Amino acid sequence: MNIILLGPPGAGKGTQAQRLVEERGMVQLSTGDMLRAAKTSGTEMGKKVAAIMDAGQLVTDEIVIGLIAEQLEKGSEGGFIFDGFPRTLGQADALDALLAEKGQKLDAVVQLEVDDETLVKRIVNRAAEAVAAGKEARADDNEESVKIRLMEYYKKTSPLIGYYYAKADLKTVDGLQSMDEVAAGIAEALA
Ligand code: AMP
Repeated sequence: MNIILLGPPGAGKGTQAQRLVEERGMVQLSTGDMLRAAKTSGTEMGKKVAAIMDAGQLVTDEIVIGLIAEQLEKGSEGGFIFDGFPRTLGQADALDALLAEKGQKLDAVVQLEVDDETLVKRIVNRAAEAVAAGKEARADDNEESVKIRLMEYYKKTSPLIGYYYAKADLKTVDGLQSMDEVAAGIAEALA
């Protein structure tokens, strides 16, 4: 089963993806995690995307499609969870083509719905919690970058909701519920 977790920054995609990995043996493909890893290890690509990511803007389709293509090559028995990808219509088309090449398809697109005020609060809290735990907060988890990330989401990613509604099996789960309730909602959506 291949699924997309769709939603704005701070909707809980990463948290829920991890649960699906543990519970169903699926493989999480988070382009945000892959890009952060490239940034930390200082690869050419990492250096190229660092400032764009820190500002909260989207990196080019070409870069993220390349990252996903590489991971799809490895295959996954339990299927893939796409977390934070696709974020543009171009990426959505590319994903379709990449899956079709492998004789695969998308089985579900689960949208996590959370209001904007909660998103901003959650992200700013996430940064404060990281610092309190003695860890480094994400460079883009500050109020200024969050606003730009939300703007990018509305301009470039939110059209995917209509796209997948028309094309595939779009399910909506209320992301304001507790983590367990959201997980239960996702399980129901995938049943
Ligand atoms: P995330 O961890 O998903 O919030 O992603 C962090 C940042 O990585 C985003 O704000 C973008 O700069 C970049 N990024 C992650 N995934 C994508 C994507 N699919 N397309 C473009 N940029 C992305």
